[in-house]
Amino acid sequence: MQQCFDTTSSNPICPACHSKHRQTKAGHTTSGIQRYQCQDCKRHYCTENRRYRYPLDIRQQAAGLHANGSSLREIARTFSVNHQTVVNWIRSDEDQSS
Ligand SMILES: [Zn+2]
Repeated sequence: MQQCFDTTSSNPICPACHSKHRQTKAGHTTSGIQRYQCQDCKRHYCTENRRYRYPLDIRQQAAGLHANGSSLREIARTFSVNHQTVVNWIRSDEDQSS
């Protein structure tokens, strides 16, 4: 498994050696997440955009529950996430469909 972590920085930090420099882009994972290679320790790792820090299938399940009449509060409890996180999921799905 690739080691993934969440970052909003355009200058990623290597999760293995914590180097901040010589982090080069190395393509994308199959799920479209940016991969990087650390030139200090030569390890590959990937970062996730904060907006998509949760897997797409979970967000789709949440959107499905919402479409079936579940309240945002219930959905948040189901997936053990913040209520505002669920709101963001629903909104991002609406953005994509319009
Ligand atoms: Zn490194």
